[in-house]
Amino acid sequence: KSALYIVATPIGNLNDISLRALDVLANVDVVAAEHVHTSGHLLAHHSITTRRITLHQHNETVMAEKIATLLAAGKTVALISDAGTPGVSDPGAKLVDLIRQQGYPVIPIPGANAALCALSASGIVNPQFLFYGFLPTKTGARRNILATLKCYTCTLIFYEAPHRILDCMADLILVFGADRKITIARELTKLFETIHVSTLGDALAWLKTDANQQKGEFVLLLSGAAVQDKSMVSEQAQQILKRLLADLP
Ligand code: SAM
Repeated sequence: KSALYIVATPIGNLNDISLRALDVLANVDVVAAEHVHTSGHLLAHHSITTRRITLHQHNETVMAEKIATLLAAGKTVALISDAGTPGVSDPGAKLVDLIRQQGYPVIPIPGANAALCALSASGIVNPQFLFYGFLPTKTGARRNILATLKCYTCTLIFYEAPHRILDCMADLILVFGADRKITIARELTKLFETIHVSTLGDALAWLKTDANQQKGEFVLLLSGAAVQDKSMVSEQAQQILKRLLADLP
């Protein structure tokens, strides 16, 4: 009977949860939730009264051991995070790793994820994307990471917090240029859901003129480098390779 369920929960609208997820949350012995308040709101909305414990980024290692003990005693446990899919820019991976090592079943219950929700409504035709998640919060580190992504031709997907959105956009312009296309997906599935497609330069100007657009939760989808940029890179790479080959005995 012992099993760990990884259950996706809504990213805003409390009805965005699968029938299977509700069934699992109502019938497991214990729900391990990131925060008591957020999970309480969701579970009460769906009249679920299952016993809860908390697992967050600061106690994941200790709680993973505790959950392993529960499974050893034949219990079933469901992990949920505050929003969306656990383990995606959220705790869960360390727990899953331990439980897998101990040989118990780990069963994913799929559902909402902010990145894929944004991508699905973006109209971006490129089938390839790279999910980066949160960029570093310090400017220097953020710019360094962005520089390493400059030549990628796939769509780049970032999560960003409202108090950093303007700084992040300014750094994107610095590294990728004002003409690169961006989709800003804000407050998905919520009252003020906004999906805005423009160049980086226009997007920053738009954000600055409306303080309301700087609030809430953001997914940024940055279009990939044009293919000619890629060939420039491969030309550069070819030059380096030539020089390296010339040095070989
Ligand atoms: N596990 C979640 C998932 O599957 O998407 C992500 C959790 S992460 C801690 C929270 C970040 O996800 C937010 O800062 C924001 O960047 C993004 N996010 C979550 N909900 C969102 C929403 N409703 N609209 C836009 N972005 C959202």
